[in-house]
Amino acid sequence: MTLITAVHGRIIYNSRGQPTIEVDVSTKTHTGRAAAPSGASVGKHEAVAFPKGGARRCLDILEDNRAKFIGVNSADQKAIYETLKSIDDTKDYSVIGGSTAFAVSMASAQAAALTGNTPLYKSITHKDNYRLPVPLGNILGGGAHAGQGAPDIQEILVCAPQSRSIRDAIQTNIDVHTQLGILLSKRDITFTRGRSDEGGWAPNMNNEQALEISARACEELGYTLGREVALGVDFAASTQYREEHNKYVYDRAGFENDAGEQIEFASDIIKRYKIKYAEDAVHEEAFEEMVTLTERFPDTLIVGDDLTVTNHAILQRAASQKSCNAAILKVNQAGSLYEAMEFARTATQNNIRLITSHRSGESNDSQITHVGVATDSVLLKAGILGGERVAKLNELLRISGNDLIRGVAEL
Ligand code: PEP
Ligand code: MG
Repeated sequence: MTLITAVHGRIIYNSRGQPTIEVDVSTKTHTGRAAAPSGASVGKHEAVAFPKGGARRCLDILEDNRAKFIGVNSADQKAIYETLKSIDDTKDYSVIGGSTAFAVSMASAQAAALTGNTPLYKSITHKDNYRLPVPLGNILGGGAHAGQGAPDIQEILVCAPQSRSIRDAIQTNIDVHTQLGILLSKRDITFTRGRSDEGGWAPNMNNEQALEISARACEELGYTLGREVALGVDFAASTQYREEHNKYVYDRAGFENDAGEQIEFASDIIKRYKIKYAEDAVHEEAFEEMVTLTERFPDTLIVGDDLTVTNHAILQRAASQKSCNAAILKVNQAGSLYEAMEFARTATQNNIRLITSHRSGESNDSQITHVGVATDSVLLKAGILGGERVAKLNELLRISGNDLIRGVAEL
């Protein structure tokens, strides 16, 4: 029943207005559909989003090869992966594009779930109990996600891990974002309420001012930082790192850090703002420096994103060296859902907590919410405002209404 009977692709637009590939995978009775997201701050070792020729080339290759998927079991992620690999055996999907691998494998999983009349998360992993990830919202954006004048730091994030329900957790994130908007407008009458790619505010200020005012927004709502509400930071430090000088260059703030100074820079922020979530605080190949941070802050999620790129072999190295205690799972960094689930298994075996994440250029789909539930992720990093972000959060709300869910995951 779950055998694939048809595969169709088309080009649509992502949240940044860039073309991307969307794929429909059909069984005899149902059609699953998924469109590929893409990043702006991209890890060196992640799957190549598009081959030369972009989304158009992805579509042409899919059309030339769609017959290979007919008759494959849509519920068998390994078989889908092997079919993708029979078309492109490069490590990084540089022939067909990670976007094709993402869209075909997600649409197949969706088709299998619909055909089996099962929620997608249950169709991806069969377990007795599922826990829900806590939403991690982006309240302020800079770096590669905002224009000149915004902070160098890519994302200031917020989460409410003690919430009793998903609705409370989402509402708290939105309240903090709203309060921050009020404070930013009061501080600067020229503030246009401009937003970054993921819905966080994009003000004209430096890193310190941005962190300071974000902390104030939480406190003015009566929250104690690091308790009911915690701030997080995605440093996305590879954006600042200049390999040729072995320095982090903070253009907007006007300073440079060597490797040691970058560790102190990140440590100071973690301590001062009681940060519970610190992503890519050093560049993507600085496994040793990550060890220092992981040892220094056992109560903070020290997270790899560009560092681990949803690659199970790289995560195994990070785990062996103790370079992080948590890792981002972005299906399109790996390419296929099968490879992303391998990554999740490696994380679980090594006691590395998972954060399932969107990309800065997103579709309106919500399958990644199901991936977050299926992988026992502690957090769902899905932005804050904008239809493509809210789609993921609303899906989490829908899942939380299911009586088989036991509760919110603990950080
Ligand atoms: C990130 O770096 O965590 C992120 C979501 O941004 P992008 O999709 O641009 O990599
Ligand atoms: Mg990141």
